[in-house]
Amino acid sequence: MSAQILSGKEVAAVVRSEVAERVAELKDRGKTVGLATVLVGEDAASQVYVRSKHRAAERAGMLSFDYNLPGTATQQEVEDQVRALNSDPRVDGMIVQLPLPGDLDGNRAVETIDPRKDADGLHPYSLGQLALERGHFRPATPSGIMRILEHYGIETSGKFAVVVGRSFLVGKPMALLLGAKGVDATVVTAHSRTVDLAGLTKKADILVAAIGRPRFIHGSQIKKGAIVIDVGINRTEEGLVGDVDFDSAVRVAGAITPVPGGVGLMTVASLLANTVTAAEHAIS
Ligand code: NDP
Repeated sequence: MSAQILSGKEVAAVVRSEVAERVAELKDRGKTVGLATVLVGEDAASQVYVRSKHRAAERAGMLSFDYNLPGTATQQEVEDQVRALNSDPRVDGMIVQLPLPGDLDGNRAVETIDPRKDADGLHPYSLGQLALERGHFRPATPSGIMRILEHYGIETSGKFAVVVGRSFLVGKPMALLLGAKGVDATVVTAHSRTVDLAGLTKKADILVAAIGRPRFIHGSQIKKGAIVIDVGINRTEEGLVGDVDFDSAVRVAGAITPVPGGVGLMTVASLLANTVTAAEHAIS
C-alpha cells in the first residue's frame, strides 16, 4: 500500500488565500501590509528563495521591498539596513535571507530585527516566546509543518515524534511545537551524535527529517504507518530531493510529504502569515 501524500501545495494555497483575505481587510482599514527582504551576495539558491517570497507577497496583495547588498557588505552595513527597515512604517515584517556569505554573522543580523517585525520567527525573542508557549511568531518552516498536520487532521496527542536535526531554524523549534501543550506529542530530537538513529526512527509515529543529506532516511528505518515529514531540500544531479528516500518510504509510511511540493511551499506561506499578523498587531 502506498502512503497518503501530504500536499504542501494544497495547504499552502489555503494559507495564502486566508492571508490574502486578511490583507484585504487591513487595506479596507487603510493599512497596506509590507514585507521586506534583505539579501546579501549573489547566492543563486538564496536569490530564488527571495524572488519566490516577493512573488507570493505581491500575489497576496502585500507591498514587497527588496534590499540587495553586495557580498562585500560589512556586518555593520547589513545591520544598518535592518535598522532602517525597523523604522520604516511601510514594512510590517522582514527577513534576512540566511545563510549570509563569508564571515557575516547571520544570528547577529537577525537579532537586529525589531521583534515586532520578525516575519521568520527566528529572533531570540520569538524563539524564547515559543519556548514559553506564548507570543505569535513561529519559525516559518516548523509552523508550516504544524499547519500540514492540522489540515490533514493528523493526531499528535500521545504520539511518539522523532525530529532528526536540531538547528534553530527547523529541528529545535519543531520539537518545541510538537511537544507543546495542546499538541502533546512525546518528542525526541536526534542529531549527528545520536547512537542507533534507525532504532529511534523505527519507533516514531511522527518522523520529521531536517538533516540536509539527500535520501538519508530509508523506508527500512521507518515504522509502518508513520507520518513522515521531509524538510530536506537537496540539489542533486537528479533534481531536488528530500532527506527521506521517498520511493522506499512511501511504501511503508501512512502519510508523507513529497519533495518538491511539500514543506518548502509552506515556509513561504507561513512567512506571509507572520507578516500579516505583524501588521494586525501594528494597527491594533
Ligand atoms: P543544519 O545543517 O543547520 O542542521 C542539520 C541537522 O542535521 C543538525 O542538527 C545535524 O546534527 C543533523 N545531522 C547531520 N547529519 C546527521 C546524521 N548523520 N545523523 C543524524 N543527524 C544528522 O540544517 P537545517 O536545519 O537548516 O536544514 C535541514 C534541511 O532542511 C536541509 O536540507 C535544508 O535545505 C532544509 N530546509 C528546508 C526548508 C524548507 O522550507 N523546506 C527550510 C529550511 C531548511 P548536528 O547538530 O549534530 O550537527
